[in-house]
Amino acid sequence: MKNAIFTIIIGLMVSSCGPLKLDHFQDPELMEFVSVFEEETGLVYDEAILFVTDLPDTTLGVMRTQSYRTMSGQKFHYSIRININRWDGLDDATKEEIIFHELGHYFLLMNNKNYNHDDRIIQGPAYNAGCPLTLMTTNSISLRNDCYRIYRQYYIDELLLRIGQ
Ligand SMILES: [Zn+2]
Repeated sequence: MKNAIFTIIIGLMVSSCGPLKLDHFQDPELMEFVSVFEEETGLVYDEAILFVTDLPDTTLGVMRTQSYRTMSGQKFHYSIRININRWDGLDDATKEEIIFHELGHYFLLMNNKNYNHDDRIIQGPAYNAGCPLTLMTTNSISLRNDCYRIYRQYYIDELLLRIGQ
């Protein structure tokens, strides 16, 4: 009987060390930004978020969907993957913007909304005219100008409207 229990524990340890574990990993440094997002929006992100080394230099982060078949049908894994080669050179506003943008993709997808990029610019005479309309723009706002730093609350509100919350 002792032998049987030993075998089961070893089996669990081995199976939890496979590649799936990496895809469920939530990096504590990245989760700090997720926590701020959750406080600001009331939305909870319960999927993987991790640093990766395999993104092109021009890509700061991605939201990846993987589908796989199980006995009970098709299932999905979601992960936000951040380019570790670019991360250390970024200021906190840019880091936050990247995480919020990728979370935007995820929550738009989960709520059956258009999760594609939107590169429209805010037209005058709005107080923030000339700035990108949304966090869901293709290129980082913070790397181009101070719009996200100055109008952060506008971008969070706009994303929530987009998600439908
Ligand atoms: Zn994007």
